Amino acid sequence: MKPVPEPDDVSAFFWRGASDGTLLVLRCGACTYLSHPPDVSCAKCGAMELTPAPMSGNGEVYSFTIVRQAFDPAFVPEVPYVVALVELDEQPGLRMLANIVDIVPDAVDIGMRVEVTFEDRGDHVVPQFRPAVPVGTST
Ligand SMILES: [Zn+2]
Repeated sequence: MKPVPEPDDVSAFFWRGASDGTLLVLRCGACTYLSHPPDVSCAKCGAMELTPAPMSGNGEVYSFTIVRQAFDPAFVPEVPYVVALVELDEQPGLRMLANIVDIVPDAVDIGMRVEVTFEDRGDHVVPQFRPAVPVGTST
């Protein structure tokens, strides 16, 4: 069993959304700025009127690391895998840490178009990203 994120009061909506297959990010009621990771106040203006808003789930790889060594035994079968910062289309600088799945790690590249996919880990559903255009197929 792989470790799963621990939802708290601030991030509970995020995990509920994932369970429903929706990627949610907090939108500020005062200035409409999108904040991630979840916080109690807007990262831009400090207002506390934050409401979860559904995202398209589309974005691109901003940066990434290929993990080739597992330090947690639960992840040994997973290596190598890709941990990436994905910048969502909704707002410049709106970035989310996730794995890139459904791709050979060496094929991941900066700027690659990705889309959200939801990985069911039993107790939790974890948003991950996969190539928006299937890799290795030609038209
Ligand atoms: Zn704001």
